[in-house]
Amino acid sequence: MSAPEQTRIIFKHIDEEGYSNDIACYQKHGGYEMLKQAVTKKPEDIREEVKKSGLRGRGGAGFSCGLKWSFVDRKSGKPIYLIVNADESEPGTFKDRYIIHQDPHQLIEGTMISCWANDVKQAYIYIRGEFPEGARILEKAIQEARDAGFVGKNILGTDYSCDIFVHRGAGAYICGEETGLIESLEGKRANPRIKPPYFPAVLGLYQCPTIVNNVETLCHVKHIMDMGADEYLKIGTPNNTGTRILCVSGHVKKPGYYEFACGDVTLGQLLYDVCGGPREGRTFKAVIPGGSSAKILRFGEKFTLKNKDGSTREIGVEDIPMDFDTLAACGTMGGSGGVIVMDDSVNIVEALANINAFYSHESCGQCTPCREGSLWMKKISSRMVHGDARPEDGELLKSVADQIAGRTICAFGEACSWPTQSYVLKFGDEFKAYPEAKKNKSADALELI
Ligand code: NAD
Ligand code: SF4
Repeated sequence: MSAPEQTRIIFKHIDEEGYSNDIACYQKHGGYEMLKQAVTKKPEDIREEVKKSGLRGRGGAGFSCGLKWSFVDRKSGKPIYLIVNADESEPGTFKDRYIIHQDPHQLIEGTMISCWANDVKQAYIYIRGEFPEGARILEKAIQEARDAGFVGKNILGTDYSCDIFVHRGAGAYICGEETGLIESLEGKRANPRIKPPYFPAVLGLYQCPTIVNNVETLCHVKHIMDMGADEYLKIGTPNNTGTRILCVSGHVKKPGYYEFACGDVTLGQLLYDVCGGPREGRTFKAVIPGGSSAKILRFGEKFTLKNKDGSTREIGVEDIPMDFDTLAACGTMGGSGGVIVMDDSVNIVEALANINAFYSHESCGQCTPCREGSLWMKKISSRMVHGDARPEDGELLKSVADQIAGRTICAFGEACSWPTQSYVLKFGDEFKAYPEAKKNKSADALELI
């Protein structure tokens, strides 16, 4: 079965000449018309529409955007802040960067509509330090929008004023965790805060109510305004509405960005039909469907899913529709939309060693299980790939990971455990065989470790 057509909402104009550096080009295609409409509407009506649309966060957690907005403490008398999380650091994820580079005004318009809807007077775009070009593009685009009356004082001649500031991170993965990000924005080390009580909706930036939304999520707000929640609900599947950008990297012939209605495309259609299949002479071995933190899927494994009528059906990796709920039902997650493909040239033990080195380096170090556990996983993996592997190392690695997940301040604890847990569970045979296999291999393994 061939793949369905892409449904391009966020990417509709993304490859058009001039979009990234010219507000006039954006306006020619209806740009800022939704903001013009928004400021004539009651903020609570827009919030209701976003809630009704079923929009779920595109940063990784898939949390309902409308629900998040509804948690905002509007009675505190303190200012409400909105932060655009553009700290896209999840390995395998590169969609927000593309939006920022190619269509910055779409993000600015979505942000301004969301600010109006939530009575926000000051918004920040927190962009990762490794995106200097993105920061430059955003600064320029915000100035263009300011000059045109879409950002800043008395927006579109109303008495509503709201400005957007770009803040650059300094290159730490944990700055993408919303409370770590807030600490960083306040000028401190990005140590995540304990939630509760520090849910940003109540106690966020400068202890004020704060909304933190991902870049892609905020772009969707503009389109919900445009088509209305009822039309938006028709895209995707119930509880998985709208489109998702899938960034495919690794061992396929055509890696890249693809936008589909949630659940429209299966993993098999995406990898074989859209991305051209494996490289010549290779076969697919494994895939991580939602950024490096998501649990790995092994080609050939089966999943039992429940049908609406209570009966069950069995599906393979290729049959999984790319939506939040089905991926969760298959024991992994859609996460940040980063699909990482591995073919049969990959040694799974060495792939995990690479990931463990990354997480150990990025742990903020506040929680003992995460700080020590991620370091031990790195040390064991490193020892293995440097020639001193033992058949029981897979189980040893997993026992360390099992002591981290669920025992930490932030979701990094899960993010660093899930790869080890799932790699060992699904490729236990390779971990057991690795010491013998390694003897026959040169000691070039991984320079990173
Ligand atoms: P989470 O489930 O803890 O929270 C989701 C959102 O809902 C947060 O904004 C949180 O404040 C809000 N929320 C949840 N319950 C709430 C309540 N009771 N009251 C008020 N607000 C509430 O997840 P998270 O830590 O935000 O995100 C974890 C995900 O981030 C991972 O699954 C991973 O995929 C993803 N991630 C993405 C990137 C990237 O580059 N895009 C990088 C790292 C991690
Ligand atoms: Fe820091 Fe890890 Fe604890 Fe998160 S889980 S707060 S990254 S030590």
